[in-house]
Amino acid sequence: MKNFYVVLAILFISFGSLAQKTYLHCGKLVDVKNGEVLNDKTIIISGSKIEAIKNGFISSKNKNDKIIDLKNKTVLPGLIDMHVHLEGETSPNNYLKPFILNEADVAFNAAGYANKTLMAGFTTVRDLGGSGVNVALRNAINNGKTVGPRIFTAEKSLATTGGHADPTNGRKRNLMGNPGPKEGVVNSVEDAKKAVRQRYKNGADWIKITATGGVLSVAKNSKNPQFTEEEIKAIVTTAKDYDMQVAAHAHGDEGMQRAIRAGVKTIEHGTLMSSETMELMKQNDAYLVSTISAGKYVAEKAKVEGYYPAIIVPKALEIGSQIQDMFGRAHKKGVYIAFGTDAGVFPHGENGKEFGYMVEAGMPAMKALQSATLTNAKLLGQENNIGQLQSGYIADIIAVNEDPTKSIKTMENTVFVMKEGIIYKD
Ligand SMILES: [Zn+2]
Repeated sequence: MKNFYVVLAILFISFGSLAQKTYLHCGKLVDVKNGEVLNDKTIIISGSKIEAIKNGFISSKNKNDKIIDLKNKTVLPGLIDMHVHLEGETSPNNYLKPFILNEADVAFNAAGYANKTLMAGFTTVRDLGGSGVNVALRNAINNGKTVGPRIFTAEKSLATTGGHADPTNGRKRNLMGNPGPKEGVVNSVEDAKKAVRQRYKNGADWIKITATGGVLSVAKNSKNPQFTEEEIKAIVTTAKDYDMQVAAHAHGDEGMQRAIRAGVKTIEHGTLMSSETMELMKQNDAYLVSTISAGKYVAEKAKVEGYYPAIIVPKALEIGSQIQDMFGRAHKKGVYIAFGTDAGVFPHGENGKEFGYMVEAGMPAMKALQSATLTNAKLLGQENNIGQLQSGYIADIIAVNEDPTKSIKTMENTVFVMKEGIIYKD
């Protein structure tokens, strides 16, 4: 028995000395916390964490350690997108997919989209609605069975009958069925509570509601309020019991106001937000998730004959073209902004374009970078783990070719990706 412990001790010691560390030599490093770009730093990574950040280019004495040369790159914390849909991606036959794809098909597609998202530098995302495959995807990524970003998921979005996330909109009557809280469709305060509890049971991390009509649902109205304020309140308070927060899709002003007063944490899109609602956002500590990318994409595709069903075209043209303008006004007014794109509405992996659109609308580049790191980490309750390059933080680290505070377009081309200390793109 004594020998056994000696062997164990030797194994333990030799493992310790073999443990490989990674040294990243960073020509430039974006310190989002202090809002500055630093020169010539070495990030030392041990296991899944950042061990230290040193001045200059430090080399290791241990020959097992790995040195990565990023001397002519700019290094940033892994990016966070607060609005993606990893289960699907835009295409002209999207409305056929529920009838031809099995759950396994959706899952394999989703794994591919997750991979693309990670390669684009997004090491964490909030998935705001799918069929439930997003929960399995989150678990598979966490368990190392497939490659993708860390996921916080809303599972299935909540809607009212005929509302933006009613899964049977536009179908012939014998295929409509009568979806209820289990499927995420609510029509009363009681339904609202049950739908939230069902999401908890199904493994959701967040709750998503469709507070107003939307663009891509097969329905006429893109902006009418679709929940009563009492229903939203019931959703928010029930979610709180389960330690979850609520995100509200909203284009129209009335639905937005109801959602903010009821206590939702993020407003998605926010297209027709009035100045009064912007004030209400600030008073209630609610965040705008911009999704300018989605607006631009749908407005462009609406001009392509047959890309969307006819009922969607006028909605896409009207709503899509207004998001960036509203974003500019909201930023000017001091509304809290969280970075989010609605990837899936446009091709996955193009999330980085949003930075350029934000800057184009008047936001300084550093502020846009902070929204995708510091702000989003805080909204996810992860401000002590991710969103910064600091010792003790999880080693989610990316690099781009240029200094994004001088050339924001560089955010569309991530050249290096590390997640939890593992290099996925170099
Ligand atoms: Zn969305």
